[in-house]
Amino acid sequence: MSERTATVVGGGIAGLASALSLARAGWRTRVLESRSGTTEVGSGLALPRNGVVALNALGFDDAEIDRTGHRTQMTGFVDTLGRPILTMPVDDPQVREFTTVWGFHRQRLHGLLARAAHQEGVELVRGARVTGVAAGRPEGAPAVVSWQQRGTGPDTTGHETESDLVVGADGLRSAVRGALHPRVRPLYSGSTDWRAIVPVAALQGTGLDGRLVEYWGPGTEFGVMQVNAEQVYWYGHIKAPERAVFDDELATARAGFAGWAPEVLALIDATTPDQIMRHDVHHMPEGPQSYVRGRVVLIGDAAQGALPTGGLGAASALEDGASLGRLVGPARRGDLERALAGFDALRRPRRRALARQARVVARWGADLGGGWRQKLRNSAFRLVPAGAVVKSRKDVVHWAPPAPLIPA
Ligand SMILES: Cc1cc2nc3c(=O)[nH]c(=O)nc-3n(C[C@H](O)[C@H](O)[C@H](O)COP(=O)(O)OP(=O)(O)OC[C@H]3O[C@@H](n4cnc5c(N)ncnc54)[C@H](O)[C@@H]3O)c2cc1C
Repeated sequence: MSERTATVVGGGIAGLASALSLARAGWRTRVLESRSGTTEVGSGLALPRNGVVALNALGFDDAEIDRTGHRTQMTGFVDTLGRPILTMPVDDPQVREFTTVWGFHRQRLHGLLARAAHQEGVELVRGARVTGVAAGRPEGAPAVVSWQQRGTGPDTTGHETESDLVVGADGLRSAVRGALHPRVRPLYSGSTDWRAIVPVAALQGTGLDGRLVEYWGPGTEFGVMQVNAEQVYWYGHIKAPERAVFDDELATARAGFAGWAPEVLALIDATTPDQIMRHDVHHMPEGPQSYVRGRVVLIGDAAQGALPTGGLGAASALEDGASLGRLVGPARRGDLERALAGFDALRRPRRRALARQARVVARWGADLGGGWRQKLRNSAFRLVPAGAVVKSRKDVVHWAPPAPLIPA
């Protein structure tokens, strides 16, 4: 039986998760990653239960996940002064299922996936920037990826690699998607986002205990959660023109949250310039009409970059990775087209629904304007039973890996 080959473009969370699941299903898998460094961006992220179910499906047990990240609770939303808007009844066992979240330092989650992929025989090529792709045909021509390998100096070497399957996991500005769907482009959301990882000691005296809490203000939000025994992650989201340049990021963050609860300012004050980073927030409200073209499948942010307000991007990237192994993993020459169509039919509606939900959260939270809107939202939300809100997350959190369409 001939060996099946897969080229995964992008070694982020989606790329490594899919490479791992394809390699487990017997594919000879190579990941092309444009970054030359060995580390992933040094910030944090929160995974709800569905992200952890996907990690389980990728072969990681709960103990390993808990050692890599930090299992905690989402306690709710408060106003700029820390007064409750919506408090989650986290002591109710029926509710905890929906409010349990895992905080991760991104590098640690990335490292977990990278080590497992390496053990499974995945080849990771760093400094390999993909510049184009020809989609091929599932029953005919192979897919061809064009890429450039950066040398130690300014020199680059051009390569073309044929494979049975190409996975476009190269993020929101995907070159793979750009080659196949040039008109689908990310939009600027109007917000820019600071993120920082600080020592857990920064929580001392703040009244915060490492559980996830989100502060909502006019066109702004600030969140904080512990990501492991030593570190805490905070993020702050403000409205700003695209590509705004600030001379002093920490001073601008402090000014952006001036007058907010003392614990918010204490966390910013506990941050050093090397611990903070900022990214403009982009998203793709619609995404491509299909995630599949020929032998190419788009996953992760390359397929459907959502607003970060849902806190679901990494979780859905993991869902994609685990699903690819189940649905496309067993496919051989005669049934690749059917397997890829099955992946698209299952994943596209799910990802679109999650992206919609992130937009709804943004509308009521980080994107809501000032004045009466804040007062109205806060008063209305104080009347909503938190249990009802939590259960509306049922469709997000209750995810199970798909049953294979094709017997292994
Ligand atoms: C401010 C912010 C906060 C967030 N917070 C959360 C959160 O709390 N929880 C959560 O679940 N999600 C969060 N997300 C979203 C989450 O980070 C992303 O959805 C997730 O990382 C997507 O993973 P990915 O692998 O698809 O893409 P990426 O992480 O972008 O990885 C893409 C990889 O492809 C590589 N690449 C790019 N172009 C090429 C090329 N041409 N050739 C080769 N390689 C290439 C890149 O170097 C990168 O390594 C947040 C996002 C933002 C912006």
